[in-house]
Amino acid sequence: MNVLDLARPDLRGLKPYSSARMEASAAAVMLNANEAPQAFVSHAGPALNRYPMPQPPPLLAALAARYGVPESSVLAGRGSDEAIDLLVRAFCRAGQDAVLICPPTFGMYQVAAAVQGAKLQSVPLDARNGFSLDLAAVAAAVTASTRLVFLCSPNNPTGGVLPREPVLELVRRLHGRALVVVDEAYVEFSNAGSLADVLLQYPNLAILRTLSKAFGLAAARIGCLLADPQVIELLRRIMAPYPLPQPCVELALAALQQSAAVDAWVRSVAAERERVHASLRLLPGVLDVWPSQANFLSFRVSDAQASWTALAARGVVVRDVSHYLGLAGALRVSVGTAAQNDAFLHALKESC
Ligand SMILES: *Cc1c(COP(=O)(O)O)cnc(C)c1O
Repeated sequence: MNVLDLARPDLRGLKPYSSARMEASAAAVMLNANEAPQAFVSHAGPALNRYPMPQPPPLLAALAARYGVPESSVLAGRGSDEAIDLLVRAFCRAGQDAVLICPPTFGMYQVAAAVQGAKLQSVPLDARNGFSLDLAAVAAAVTASTRLVFLCSPNNPTGGVLPREPVLELVRRLHGRALVVVDEAYVEFSNAGSLADVLLQYPNLAILRTLSKAFGLAAARIGCLLADPQVIELLRRIMAPYPLPQPCVELALAALQQSAAVDAWVRSVAAERERVHASLRLLPGVLDVWPSQANFLSFRVSDAQASWTALAARGVVVRDVSHYLGLAGALRVSVGTAAQNDAFLHALKESC
């Protein structure tokens, strides 16, 4: 079975918009896109009068090298948020097909499903068992209408990682039935490896990566989907013609050349996370703190809203995640600089 048999049949024959930059990207005289022929507004950074490449080859090459996959398996977009939206639009017919999620988890899967009119199926994490996931239960919950299964590892907001072999076992079981999308937005901070090394073996496996977290480029909006080249090709057809602003592409390329600095930063964040985790465990007002493999920690207090407000009054803003399934009383704090973390811990001592 071809993985595209899972996608919307009406899209398989869709003739994509053909942009000027796709038809021709370089020549001595470029007069095909109604652009200004030269830059005349002065600003720092690259000239902006020309439309950018839809999928700039140097960016695809750098992302492919970083993640260890072929360029044909990479779709670069406006954050991994865009890839989530594209996947749901490409695979789910409104009112018919379903997206399966494992709450408590990242909210965008549900939002994208709702926007598309896709049905939502849920297999909750086991709150009494460290928010672990029964992957056999996920397989059992997949029905004939399920098209996408979103797994987030490390999971936002609980911070846990899914074990590799059971995830791959699920992918094998769902071959021909659903695409398994593993969101690895935080994988750099974890000691679990990415599944990118086995991507080519599984046409129904897709992986989300982003430069927003470990690379510290959240404002540049660059993320990507790693998937079977046929899936990449399908999503390109429904994507905006010029999704990536050129200044952002150049910033991303600069960042991707600084792997050593990124890796050192990631290690320091992981060390700070463990320090904050240990300090949180010693605070009497903190009832629970979950081990995290990401750049944040979730913890439980007796009154999340009251603690949130008291922290805010002391100039420290955290995320109230108490409305998530199984997370009553919980707040989520991102790992900051050592000084910011100390300020947070100090304020929390007075706030719960
Ligand atoms: C932050 C986050 C993303 C989105 O990242 P962008 O690339 O900035 O869109 C994706 N998934 C999870 C789980 C996240 O927490």
